[in-house]
Amino acid sequence: MNCNIAVIKGDGIGPEVVTEAMKVLDAVGKKFGHTFNYEQLLMGGCSIDKYGDPLTDETVAIAKSKDAVLLGSIGGNTQTSPWYKLPPNKRPEAGLLKIRKELGLFANLRPAYLYPELKEACPLKESVAERGFDMMIMRELTGGLYFGERYTKEIDGVMTAVDTLTYNENEIRRIAVKGFDIAVKRRKKVTLVDKANVLDSSRLWRKVTEEVAKDYPEVEYETMLVDNAAMQLVKDPAQFDVMLTENMFGDILSDEASMITGSIGMLSSASLNETKFGLYEPSGGSAPDIAGQNIANPIATILSAAMMLRYTFDLDKEADAIENAVKKVLEEGYRTIDIAKPGEPQVKCDEMGSLIAERI
Ligand code: NAD
Repeated sequence: MNCNIAVIKGDGIGPEVVTEAMKVLDAVGKKFGHTFNYEQLLMGGCSIDKYGDPLTDETVAIAKSKDAVLLGSIGGNTQTSPWYKLPPNKRPEAGLLKIRKELGLFANLRPAYLYPELKEACPLKESVAERGFDMMIMRELTGGLYFGERYTKEIDGVMTAVDTLTYNENEIRRIAVKGFDIAVKRRKKVTLVDKANVLDSSRLWRKVTEEVAKDYPEVEYETMLVDNAAMQLVKDPAQFDVMLTENMFGDILSDEASMITGSIGMLSSASLNETKFGLYEPSGGSAPDIAGQNIANPIATILSAAMMLRYTFDLDKEADAIENAVKKVLEEGYRTIDIAKPGEPQVKCDEMGSLIAERI
């Protein structure tokens, strides 16, 4: 297969970790007979430095012409970097918001998987961590409370703030379909998380998702109230496979799910639109505190590349090969600075990339 990928290495540790992900993709290409064509683009601080703009329209147009975007991270030290003296719409993060909007990315996927070798980093009780977990939080990204009408004004002499939570059935259906499609590739269970005992929007989510569920008889479907879901995530995370939810609930629950894995350098993510197109990036930021030292953990970005193979290119065998290579290096005891226990030997960012590439 010929895969055309826009590569945005970005700022901070971005260039270091993306280089390793490309190394691993090239190893996959060699073993399975695929060609990965990369076109490198600028976004974030590096684009501000070159073009005075965190994301140019030309860059967006090139990204749109590809099959997928592989992104590192953008931004710098928010206290000291001159990028943060610019108006908000000219700062690095404005590039990120613009590309998500331009590409119509409405579904955000964040896997939370506990590697047995890293279970000591899990802050949950040993008996819970022992059972492990492997879930995918699927968050709606372009609707709901964060995009509804909002205002603050004086009403009858009292300052009053209003935020509106709006979803229409089409917005719900398109992400529900994605959620079930992804569940089919996994352990075939979808949990819709909502607040249907109170919110009309949640009741519409239930109605539409139930309709979609009928088309997937092989997938187990359940609903759960968001307050209960927040508790269940720390009590019994092993019960979840795909957790489907609206924007704000997903924002909160995906961070909670990330936290229980205990290691930011391991967390991949994907944002998808209605086609097979996706933007794949690590969940963490540009880590300016460790940038340029070749010590960042590249695994989150490497696992994001595996998600790209699985969800954009339908190359499941190849994605499995990456995920298994990651498991292997962890089993063999290799650790970067963020996941090493005190006193444990550490490998550099590029060494970790090579170790994984060699095990494809
Ligand atoms: P961060 O995620 O960059 O760093 C938090 C901590 O985790 C730091 O100590 C860092 O060293 C560590 N860390 C993160 N990724 C790591 C990795 N792969 N390996 C080892 N350690 C890792 O968050 P922050 O410090 O709050 O933000 C720094 C910059 O990143 C800011 O400019 C912020 O706006 C930006 N940011 C960008 C994105 C993105 O590009 N999507 C996301 C979040 C933050």
